[in-house]
Amino acid sequence: MQQLISTWLESIGEDPARDGLRDTPRRTAEAWAYMTRGYQQDPLAMLRSALFEATAGQMVLVRDIAIYSMCEHHLLPFFGVCHIGYIPKNHIVGVSKLARLADIFARRLQVQERLTDQIAGAVMEALDPEGVGVIIEARHLCMIMRGAEKQNSRMVTSAMLGSFQTTPAIRDEFLQLARLGASA
Ligand SMILES: [Zn+2]
Repeated sequence: MQQLISTWLESIGEDPARDGLRDTPRRTAEAWAYMTRGYQQDPLAMLRSALFEATAGQMVLVRDIAIYSMCEHHLLPFFGVCHIGYIPKNHIVGVSKLARLADIFARRLQVQERLTDQIAGAVMEALDPEGVGVIIEARHLCMIMRGAEKQNSRMVTSAMLGSFQTTPAIRDEFLQLARLGASA
């Protein structure tokens, strides 16, 4: 990867040998390993290692999980917040694990729609809850820095499974809880 980055620097008209860029290929390769570490992590195994018995109950919501991901179309960051809600059937999972789950899928090349679906699908598969809902609100540097230059645009995606999909009252409760405290 370092060799490729050196070639890439040349192709944009830079001199990879100059002082400021000498260590850039190594630093960039390390940064990319970190930003794509999700490929080495198993989301279902992580969730299943942290399940607790529970009786059916109220909606559990974790709001404002920070996510940092890379858009697969431009290899530029998109970042924002993720809200995950579910209604348990037989199992609950530690709250920190939902944040971890979002991170595992975000730290790969992504499109926001698929990221949202994958998080919801993994909760559904590992916990077998009554239902699950996921909302992601994110800003994409590929929209902000180039092209349309929509400076303040945020993209919002959602995925609803189980009772969140079939029961409007449950979906409404989730949307209302997720919106509480939203900045705008
Ligand atoms: Zn993009």
